[in-house]
Amino acid sequence: MTSLKLKERIEGQAYESHGQSFYELNEKEQFIVVGNAVMEQLVPRWIESKNKFKKKKQAYYLSAEFLMGRALSNNLVNLGMEDEVKRTLAEMGVDYNALEEAEDDAGLGNGGLGRLAACFLDSGATLDYPLSGYGILYQYGIFKQNFVNGFQVEEADPWLEHDNPWLIKNSNDTRVVEFSEEDKVEAVPYDMPIVGYGGETINTLRLWKAEAINKFDFNAFDEGKYIESVRAQNEAETISRILYPNDSTYEGKRLRLRQQYFFTSASLQDLMEKYKAEGHKNYDDFSKMHSIQLNDTHPAMAIPELIRLLENEGVEFEKAFDITQKSMAYTNHTLLAEALEVWEKDLFISAVPNLYPYIEQINARLIGELKEWNVDESDWHKYLIIQNNSIHMAFMSIYATSAVNGVAAIHTELLKTDVIKAWHDIFPDRILNKTNGITQRRWLLQSNPQLSEMITDLIGSKDWITDLMKLKGIEGRFEEEEVLERFIDIKKEKKVELADYIRFHEEVDIDPDSIFDIQIKRLHEYKRQLMMAFYIADLYNRIKADPDADWTKRSFIFGAKAAPGYYAAKSIIKFINELANRVNKDPEVNNIIKVVFVENYGVSYAEKLFPAADVSEQISLAGKEASGTGNMKFMLNGAVTVGTMDGANVEIVEEAGRENNYIFGMEVEEVVEKRGKYDPQKALKKTEGLKDVVESLVDGTFNDNNTGMFQDLYDSLIHEDQYFVLEDFASYREAQDQIESDFKDPKMFYRKGFINMANAGKFSSDRTLEEYAKEIWLVNKG
Ligand SMILES: *Cc1c(COP(=O)(O)O)cnc(C)c1O
Repeated sequence: MTSLKLKERIEGQAYESHGQSFYELNEKEQFIVVGNAVMEQLVPRWIESKNKFKKKKQAYYLSAEFLMGRALSNNLVNLGMEDEVKRTLAEMGVDYNALEEAEDDAGLGNGGLGRLAACFLDSGATLDYPLSGYGILYQYGIFKQNFVNGFQVEEADPWLEHDNPWLIKNSNDTRVVEFSEEDKVEAVPYDMPIVGYGGETINTLRLWKAEAINKFDFNAFDEGKYIESVRAQNEAETISRILYPNDSTYEGKRLRLRQQYFFTSASLQDLMEKYKAEGHKNYDDFSKMHSIQLNDTHPAMAIPELIRLLENEGVEFEKAFDITQKSMAYTNHTLLAEALEVWEKDLFISAVPNLYPYIEQINARLIGELKEWNVDESDWHKYLIIQNNSIHMAFMSIYATSAVNGVAAIHTELLKTDVIKAWHDIFPDRILNKTNGITQRRWLLQSNPQLSEMITDLIGSKDWITDLMKLKGIEGRFEEEEVLERFIDIKKEKKVELADYIRFHEEVDIDPDSIFDIQIKRLHEYKRQLMMAFYIADLYNRIKADPDADWTKRSFIFGAKAAPGYYAAKSIIKFINELANRVNKDPEVNNIIKVVFVENYGVSYAEKLFPAADVSEQISLAGKEASGTGNMKFMLNGAVTVGTMDGANVEIVEEAGRENNYIFGMEVEEVVEKRGKYDPQKALKKTEGLKDVVESLVDGTFNDNNTGMFQDLYDSLIHEDQYFVLEDFASYREAQDQIESDFKDPKMFYRKGFINMANAGKFSSDRTLEEYAKEIWLVNKG
């Protein structure tokens, strides 16, 4: 399209949708208008793309979370329209960056699991696979985080308050979800296009919104009961109102159960309707046409629900079970026992009455098989879906699907040998590994155009955008002086950009010549943000003791949301904010180190943080982080990892070399061996300087505004230290001190970063997606 034509469209759109001249609109409105103009271009291709996959086997990614972030730049880049739109807007006198920033993040997820779903959709469309996403159109995404006096305060995220150009309501495909005979709601689909790179394939993310079947009670209204007249609508809409902000810890909530049933039932009905519409007379071929991936157990109700729906269509139980098992696969995302979904039976029955009998049937079938397999009855608790008045969603998901996968090599190994060993003994071929990945389109091409350009120059083509293994070919180029210098200059440029952004948004000044050491991820005790804070507090004490020593400048950056009910996590945020206060205000120290906790970390903030990092903090207790994907985003952008042998860190150092990263701490075997025998007091005594830091929680150094938060943190460390913060501290400090010393020779240091970048190919979600497609879904490209 010519830029004149695009200009006409944008101007025309503004009159149509806002009844005003484009130039009179505010940035948010301008964004909507430009988004609509992009959609005009995209929709015909979207329809074509859907047609090409008709009557072919397709894969469906069921997930309670899709952490999409913004779509404008991503869509423009993938459609190849970026230059044209930017040029046109510039000619019209419009600032593209301001318009881009005006888009609300689609924050429909908590963290890694939801972001993974988003990366997979991008890879699926780019690789030309028929992959659709199914989820919930939450009216409120993950909460916005504010800091007040250093405490986290949550605010609602009404991201749909303004028109969203990317969502198309498809009322024709409305489904009815039946919790019980008297309790039904409508599921109305909103479709979002997922544009593959190159724009050839455009897949669909279908998000369901809950509505009442009888939206308005005229009888009640006539009698003057106005509130009563819309009660049903309010109650129904509650189902898709909010995303539950809890990452990795399971909480029994009736509404959450209803959300899970709501979107799985609607999605399966959708598949069955399309299947019938394509002319199938029975369900014999259903599993040949569908592969359904359950992203954790959140959509596990799809198992009994598909059986129920098939029985309603006259399929008998055994056959329905077989179809279900052949159609579905399950991804496990956690090793934390407290995060495995186990629902109380009575709660489950009251929330989703329709489904329970089918779970009983599945459980009865399992008991029959346990007998056949001669499993001793004393071991049945390792398998039973229903036991002790509870329902075990993971057991059901392993039993009634055809593949179960972990998300990193070490994680899958721990599943097989520990967490679900009993199942592995019976189904030795069922548990597979699919190491997670990230899309290089968003996490490099879009967020770091400078480094992208350099890579393209070095490779001599843009092939890496769809084939990240191409990076390996430039690994040795750091030896060329000008290549390494360009790499260092780019890193510096990204650090300046981030420093400007942080100065504006957080009102903290950080020096782009300092080491940018970044930990960004959900706030969780097992991720050990507290250990990094202790390192900083100890470093502060050391600097105070010898301010004139040859210290390397460092900026420590945190970003994390704590689940609103997670008291310890909120205490850690408060502590880090107090620490930042103390460090940043001390003139003897603040020209050497700075600490900043950025507010409201999310996808869009992440896109600014990853490219600017020198050091990637991946310091979870070994055996706790299933994979991590933040670690991969840092690596791809040329940061070195300071980390434990946990999750995908293991594979990162396998690819990039242990000598190019900073590995420390206990390994899984040591953690297992020490568990139960560990005395945190001993660790405290033997580690010089640590006692002062830990005592500072309670000796008046830091102020928790009399909440008792810091005393509680202290007590839990001293008495239990579940995550071995004190035990691993010494070895973490050693690794950190090595980084500070290595940075004194910047070329040597950045060589490691370059080598990490060049070896990040394995961690493209394109690789992960190919593995799912070929080994689990058995779907073909279009
Ligand atoms: C990648 C990403 C995550 C996951 O980070 P981990 O370090 O793997 O836990 C969480 N939130 C956002 C916004 C991300 O982009």
